[in-house]
Amino acid sequence: MRYHVHHSMTTPIIHLANATVIDPAQPDPPRDLYIHDGKIIAQPADQHTKQTIDLTGHTILPGGIDMHTHLVTPAMSALRTLQQHVIRDVISDQLIGSPTWLRDEYLKLGITTAIDAAITPGDAPAAKLGLRELEPLNTGFLLLLSHHADLLSLINAGDVEAATELAIKLFRNATAMGIKLVNPGSMQTMDGPALDVLDIDQAVEGMQATPRQVLTFFLDLSDKLNIAHPVHIHLPQLGTPDSSPTTCQWLDAMVGRRAHIAHLQYHCYAYDEDWYLRSDVECVLKHLNDNPQITADVGLTAFGPAYGMTADLALHDRLVALFGDEVGPTLRFQWEGRTSFGLQPLDRDPQNLGYAMQWATGLELILLADNLNQLSLSIDYPNGGAIASYPQLIRCLMDKSYRDALLAKAHPAATQATNLKQITRQLSFDEILQLTRISPAHALGLENKGNLNLSSDADLVIYPDSISKTGDFSQTPTHVMIDGRFL
Ligand SMILES: [Zn+2]
Repeated sequence: MRYHVHHSMTTPIIHLANATVIDPAQPDPPRDLYIHDGKIIAQPADQHTKQTIDLTGHTILPGGIDMHTHLVTPAMSALRTLQQHVIRDVISDQLIGSPTWLRDEYLKLGITTAIDAAITPGDAPAAKLGLRELEPLNTGFLLLLSHHADLLSLINAGDVEAATELAIKLFRNATAMGIKLVNPGSMQTMDGPALDVLDIDQAVEGMQATPRQVLTFFLDLSDKLNIAHPVHIHLPQLGTPDSSPTTCQWLDAMVGRRAHIAHLQYHCYAYDEDWYLRSDVECVLKHLNDNPQITADVGLTAFGPAYGMTADLALHDRLVALFGDEVGPTLRFQWEGRTSFGLQPLDRDPQNLGYAMQWATGLELILLADNLNQLSLSIDYPNGGAIASYPQLIRCLMDKSYRDALLAKAHPAATQATNLKQITRQLSFDEILQLTRISPAHALGLENKGNLNLSSDADLVIYPDSISKTGDFSQTPTHVMIDGRFL
């Protein structure tokens, strides 16, 4: 059946007049935009009804995209309950709040699309309902399949055909945007410590399949299903001195394959005699340069309150060993099959070595990158901090003296075991739009978002003209339009 949508004479076309339009996807964007039926359209013939809005002195940008966040992840729902009833005083209400609060935090920053990175198959129906509470924010989710019990049994038994059949069923039923893997090949049970992956070709205890076999199964599956967003991978050894060698080993296993690496910053460390950790972004960036088909979100971190929320139990066990109940109670629970979640409150103090290193290394990763089109801005909310910390992180990328002032107050390892102090690069406003609009839209396969091309979705944000000089996203936009409607 075919549907024809006619431009109704009674539905006014919205004409945004006399604005400065900034869209790095277009070298010479138009000065006026026309919106109809939720899309950007060409200048219409005169007889169409028009509602003209004079935007003299204002700049129109495509709406921002946060491609890796946690909106309705099961662990987030658990955290909301804890906040309301159990540990009210522990969790800052600037960090965790209701779904509608979270939506408003995004809209205040000019972000109009956000993707939840960890929904299990059994949770998909509830997640879809939960995401409706965030409307009109555009949302979607990734399906966490790496520890699905039945799927793992089939992969371990080497029955690729049956595993593929089951995975296709799970993926189609969930209507997810992509497949998420968390520390694929690792073993996590509630009985003992989780077993992290040490080598891509060495099966961990309790698994028959090697991590490489698990990875390859899902890369092949995603190709077979022709999913626009490639497999979204949380790598092993997050945050450890083995993380960079591990990342480079895994990127070698993905040569020529499409893949997306989650919160890459945490996977860029090598061992250092003096400081235990040093940043090793050069090795990882070289692999990205050699593999332009691979994308990553950065996972920047801010100083201040955060919440460790992860389906990587090996990581959770390390966090608990480091911090225990210092900031607040930790929680580890089995959710679905072998998928588990850990919750650990964090206080990202600049004087803490690890937090200072993560803050500096994330910035360094972006500032030393040759191809910003492979990188998207993310903070893996709430792991990297509050949603409201984005403007400060953007300022660090655009303003060397500002970031140097923060660096001076951070643990000395951030100066001595990263290259941040030596880096003079300051990103342009267009480069910020690349990281927050063009790159995430491209990585997600959302060709109609992140740009203001004809026939793209009318998701846009309007600021005073000063925005392109200051890059100050801490100011609330004067207007936000989603799907052709002003909020
Ligand atoms: Zn995440």
